[in-house]
Amino acid sequence: MSDIIQLLPDHVANQIAAGEVVQRPASVVKELLENAIDAGATSIKLLLKDAGKTLIQVIDNGIGMSGTDARLSFERHATSKIKSAEDLFNLSTKGFRGEALASIAAIAHVELKTKQESEELGTQLKIEGSKVISQEVVSTSKGTSIAVKNLFYNIPARRNFLKSDTIETRHIIDEFQRVALAHPNIAFLLHHNNNEVYHLKESNCRKRIIGIFGAKMNEKLVPIDEKTDIISIEGFVAKPEFAKKKRGEQFFFVNDRFIKSSYLNHAVVNAFDGLLDTNHHPSYFLYLTVPPNTIDINIHPTKTEIKFDNEKALYAIIRATIKHSLGQYNVAPVLDFNRDATLDTPYSFKQQKVTTPKITVDPSYNPFKNDDKEVYHQQNYKKDIGSWDVLYSNIEPEVKTEQAELFENKTITEAKKTIQIQHKYLLSAIKSGVVLINQSLAHQRVLYERFLKSITVSEANSQQLLFPVKISFSSQEIETIYTIKSELENAGFVFEEFTKESITVRGIPTSILESQITQILEQLLNDINLDIPEASFSHFDVMAKSFAKTLCIKTGAVLSEKEQENLVNDLFSCKEPNTSPFGKNTFKTLTIKEIDAIFSH
Ligand code: ADP
Ligand code: MG
Repeated sequence: MSDIIQLLPDHVANQIAAGEVVQRPASVVKELLENAIDAGATSIKLLLKDAGKTLIQVIDNGIGMSGTDARLSFERHATSKIKSAEDLFNLSTKGFRGEALASIAAIAHVELKTKQESEELGTQLKIEGSKVISQEVVSTSKGTSIAVKNLFYNIPARRNFLKSDTIETRHIIDEFQRVALAHPNIAFLLHHNNNEVYHLKESNCRKRIIGIFGAKMNEKLVPIDEKTDIISIEGFVAKPEFAKKKRGEQFFFVNDRFIKSSYLNHAVVNAFDGLLDTNHHPSYFLYLTVPPNTIDINIHPTKTEIKFDNEKALYAIIRATIKHSLGQYNVAPVLDFNRDATLDTPYSFKQQKVTTPKITVDPSYNPFKNDDKEVYHQQNYKKDIGSWDVLYSNIEPEVKTEQAELFENKTITEAKKTIQIQHKYLLSAIKSGVVLINQSLAHQRVLYERFLKSITVSEANSQQLLFPVKISFSSQEIETIYTIKSELENAGFVFEEFTKESITVRGIPTSILESQITQILEQLLNDINLDIPEASFSHFDVMAKSFAKTLCIKTGAVLSEKEQENLVNDLFSCKEPNTSPFGKNTFKTLTIKEIDAIFSH
């Protein structure tokens, strides 16, 4: 039999290797940003088109490359960063594999312009699918610009595999944030489809965090600072009362590189011991510095995991340091040398006592107390339809005497009365037995259908605010809100102004209170960012769900008889009364038969 093994042609081998480095546009962004940092840039611009699918361009003012180096940089295993395997144990740069540019050039159209400071002229290089198309001498400024166009143009399967622009943008922004947070001393700019998303000046850690997550973050940060022989820890944790239901802002940087570590995360969470509500995750931005030869960074291109020599000691130090800082901020003002006076807490706020974290359920909040809503409920209560009434009328009494009929009428009216159990459930006798309703889930269903209707048919009523409310958000959050502006307007929001840092709201849906605006928008952002359905992404649905979740009557709310009745009627006028918008049961009936069965043995 003849030999059957063949060597793969170079271009195929390159494409396969490229697939390991470049999974999506965000991987390219990460590699290019890291190269710019390694080149000593103090200012880095990232320009994107169509979530990076059409263009990813990184422009830096770093050391640039000579003509020969420019050409070499696209060869596999070409790197200026290590010379021997030993260098691997003392890395201070991000790159070292010399694979990124070669991989990117194998699967995209790449245009490089670069110039060293000492040179008069620079080099322009065009490469498509690993093939050099042209190399020219050009006049350009000091540093390097790399434009990566039409990613995966020659691997349609990979291109088709990319997710929606919203999701790919989210991945890019995650990478960008990690790099920008790791290097507050470098200026960063991010433009997407010609919109400015971030404009981050060279600054310190605190200001960089605020530049990315918005001015309201300033209030939340507790500084951390500790130096020992084996580690130095700097950065911030967010106060426990700002912990989030979803893991969001959790960042570890080790020697200026973002890493994930569930072990160290555990140390942080442990330091919050007893201060967090269940299922809440603390936010943190922790910058660890350790001797480079005491860590082993997994050299797989896409991994961000790391192994420490003295893991246990680090765990203990991190936990103790954070615990100490949390304790301190509760009793005494903490010295924070990184602090910028302009970002300081307003005086009036400083005088306020620090509140201990508590569950933020407002038991007195009751949407039915609002007059508008009372009207809504009465108008919408249609006695003749809705399965509620059906529940009462589907069983005929077996013997119908005059007395029985009288009695029956009386029991029906009385049976409609509900009782509230543990400020959580409504129990009502119905003709076939009893029905048990979860007040919070039932109300979620009611609000969800109401919001969905008003958002999609844009019939919502809006109430003018006496004074427009200005709310600060991060620029990325503002971009997100801007993309769903028209849906929010359908729901009853009226916006006056969008700036880079804030949104001014002039009108709100009649069904919400002024004091709830921030909460409802923040929850919405959270839901949009983290619950993006992979396919058919519907803002309407996410929005209606988010509003319903935020505004529903919570467990613990005391409901008057009338309110209970309204809720029951509203629930059974819903299109799908059986489940909450998140798929949980809203009520359960127990028939007399089932009740009998309980007592039959
Ligand atoms: P690595 O970063 O692992 O060395 P890359 O493929 O990312 O591998 O880059 C190859 C080489 O090209 C780098 O070692 C560096 O010398 C050079 N290079 C890449 N990007 C830049 C840049 N923005 N400025 C200057 N030199 C660069
Ligand atoms: Mg690199």
